[in-house]
Amino acid sequence: MTDTWNRHHVLSLADFTPDEYDTVLQTANSFREVLSRRTKKVPTLQGQVVANLFFESSTRTRSSFELAAKRLSADTLNFAPGSSSLTKGETILDTAKTYLAMGTDMMVIRHREAGVPQAIANEMDRLGVKVGVLNAGDGQHEHPSQALLDLFTITTLLDPNQPQLSLLKDKKIAIVGDILHSRVARSNLWSLTASGAEVHLAGPPTLVPQLFADFVKEPTDEGLGLKASSKQPDSSSSLNPLAFSRKLFLHWSLEPALRNADFVMTLRLQKERMTSHLLPSLREYHQQFGITRDRLKLCNPDVKLLHPGPVNRGVEISSDLMDDPQFSLISQQVTSGVAVRMALLYLMGSSKV
Ligand code: ASP
Repeated sequence: MTDTWNRHHVLSLADFTPDEYDTVLQTANSFREVLSRRTKKVPTLQGQVVANLFFESSTRTRSSFELAAKRLSADTLNFAPGSSSLTKGETILDTAKTYLAMGTDMMVIRHREAGVPQAIANEMDRLGVKVGVLNAGDGQHEHPSQALLDLFTITTLLDPNQPQLSLLKDKKIAIVGDILHSRVARSNLWSLTASGAEVHLAGPPTLVPQLFADFVKEPTDEGLGLKASSKQPDSSSSLNPLAFSRKLFLHWSLEPALRNADFVMTLRLQKERMTSHLLPSLREYHQQFGITRDRLKLCNPDVKLLHPGPVNRGVEISSDLMDDPQFSLISQQVTSGVAVRMALLYLMGSSKV
């Protein structure tokens, strides 16, 4: 399984190949089996040190990485910025080098600024040390492990034995809400459009700006051979703003995104990242874009709901729906997170490069 894997950092999904997605999904599925045993631990990373450097707050992601590393028998170090030497003026790179000097093998990094995990990875490479860096969320840029756990949650629902990217081909997936500030949305745009699914973004124009029409442009025109073009989004009907095989649609109203959708991913309104008044009020947002039982009737009858958490109850989703196991995959997402993060740590640790 590790034959198709040769990256020791996971910083973005922009250049992930279909084989890499499938390798993560299959590896996570093996770990899912481990996690269902009575003894939920394997010796894979025994003697290795995984440092969780979370410069921004987190509940799920940090705990999930910590548990994943422990399930793989690694030693874990946790860093809390408030009680660290950062308060004495130490730079982030110096903090990373301090953890390196203690023998850290992998660093899991979250920061409120985009690009910090990349900068630390560059520094590790410059120093010639084989320390893997995993981006656990950087500003509005990316949150690869979240998108991979979303992918795993959806694909294991479709086929619990063989989760793979191609299961999503031609499925309709609506991503609703604060796309502008969401690193989760950006990582999911790469993974979901790579699967051949139709991805529909919906939200107010202030949170789903036109620039997203060009988002899933490949880093180069080679590779998947894709090129982007864009048209104005249309709030009344669906229209494809891209001229290539990644299928991305923008809507400034909810109905066209929800119609016959197989999966609806709602995103938290990121109040802490909103610098200007982009919304009239949370109540009005819920009236226009909140997911309710009634609105779900527009979707495929088997529709499932996802949310990366934390949820603003009654804003993005009506509170009763959030807890309804017929529709909600939210707790499965949290469970999937541990297996997917075990897979990532394992694959990064076994990378040949
Ligand atoms: N937990 C996710 C993140 O860190 C989503 C969110 O905070 O809304 O990006």
